[in-house]
Amino acid sequence: MDQLEGKEVSNTMSYVKKCPRCGGDVIKKEVKEVLYGGVNTAILNVKVGVCLLCGERLYTPDLVRQFETIERKLELQETKDFQKVGQSFQVAVVA
Ligand SMILES: [Zn+2]
Repeated sequence: MDQLEGKEVSNTMSYVKKCPRCGGDVIKKEVKEVLYGGVNTAILNVKVGVCLLCGERLYTPDLVRQFETIERKLELQETKDFQKVGQSFQVAVVA
């Protein structure tokens, strides 16, 4: 079962060539993703598919799974594997 799952992951690593939203060309690009879990935030530099026309970001199922794992860890405060790069502040702004 585990082996099958592993195979599935490697097969889904390729990106789609055309955007499912507008049919534009999709390129592989490194982008910054911000993930939230509970009161914690994680910033990731990841290579994703980006549509040249509408800017839609396309993630592989494997990447989405990894995001979910990170978000769960953030929520549970299991951040010892993460590198701390700064602090988050809550600021009250008078509009
Ligand atoms: Zn598009």
